[in-house]
Amino acid sequence: MLLYIHVPFCRSKCGYCGFHSHQPGPGQMESYVDALLLELAHWGDVYDRPSVSSVYFGGGTPSLLPPNVINALGSSIRRNFALKPDVEMTFEGNPETVGAMDTLQAIKDIGVTRLSMGVQSLDNAQLAALGRRHRVRDVYRAIEQAHVIGFGNINLDLIFGLPGTRLKIWLDTIRAALELCPQHLSCYALTVEPDTPLERACFDRSITLPDEQETAKMFLYGADLLEEHGFLQYEISNFSKLGFQSRHNLGYWEGKNYLGLGPSAVSTVRGRRWANPADLGVYVNAVSSKKLDATAEQLTPEERTKEMVMLRLRTTRGLNLRGYRMLTGRAFMEVHRPLVEALSHKDLVRINNGYLRLTRHGMLVSDAILAHMFEREEAAGQGELPSTSG
Ligand code: SF4
Repeated sequence: MLLYIHVPFCRSKCGYCGFHSHQPGPGQMESYVDALLLELAHWGDVYDRPSVSSVYFGGGTPSLLPPNVINALGSSIRRNFALKPDVEMTFEGNPETVGAMDTLQAIKDIGVTRLSMGVQSLDNAQLAALGRRHRVRDVYRAIEQAHVIGFGNINLDLIFGLPGTRLKIWLDTIRAALELCPQHLSCYALTVEPDTPLERACFDRSITLPDEQETAKMFLYGADLLEEHGFLQYEISNFSKLGFQSRHNLGYWEGKNYLGLGPSAVSTVRGRRWANPADLGVYVNAVSSKKLDATAEQLTPEERTKEMVMLRLRTTRGLNLRGYRMLTGRAFMEVHRPLVEALSHKDLVRINNGYLRLTRHGMLVSDAILAHMFEREEAAGQGELPSTSG
């Protein structure tokens, strides 16, 4: 099982952020921590101290948690869950808070094996434009401190397609990030989330985002540059040195059971899915009344198939066609042959050793490819396949 712990607090809201997070109000950190400790005990009890291969503290900003709270959570996790000896434990943080020595020491003490830092850009003007609290010097400081404490597995999150940037600026950002010697890089395209300051700034044209072609070049040439430096792309947005893939994310894309704790966290265990309430007060009440999975739904075979296709095609390994047949009882090509042949002709997909995977150009249009596949899946589910040449 994979364990995800959502920390819903941030020091301030970044201008592009669509995640569930807010500044902690008076007493909110305390009620959150009390509820989270109760929730850990609850699931440990329900699943009889289940075996866990990965723990991921995400958010929000987990590095905002005080060191004594980090210690208390670490002890509770070990008490209520049987962590595998080679457990991967990831902790997300922002450079301005994760660089504090006592925070880093607490993170190390509870057994965290992997640090993930929200760097986003290595240019102060871009960081300010994004509404980030940290500056480039905080990144250097945090990484230096992390090395002093002994972390040897560090991920940096970066964003491309930032306002006013072009390909050269993105490649320079990657080069600067590589000088920090990370083991893993997550490179996300900037997305304009609804109801954010970024959306408003795009609407009133006070900022201009690079066009689609330029952003596509950033994705393609950025991936080439990373590969030249020994970083293998194993998922659309993720690159790592050999042996440093995120096992947590791979487990999620491979459809392993995962338990999400904290406000808004989603769980899927044995095909049952539920989401914790996003509102902190409602979450606290749901934990006290032990009604967290009261709204759980069993995923239908169609939902499971779509999810498998969608998640596996994000990875460079791709979709195991035998796995698809085992889940659906039919051959993938029986449903998708015309589309796969058309995409393959355009070098957007390839089939190798029983796996269907998107090429890098295919990844650029993955949403459109998936939309076509889902249309065919639905038709197959209803016993009628539309004739399409893809
Ligand atoms: S630090 Fe991350 S989660 Fe928090 S507001 Fe910024 S982007 Fe959102």
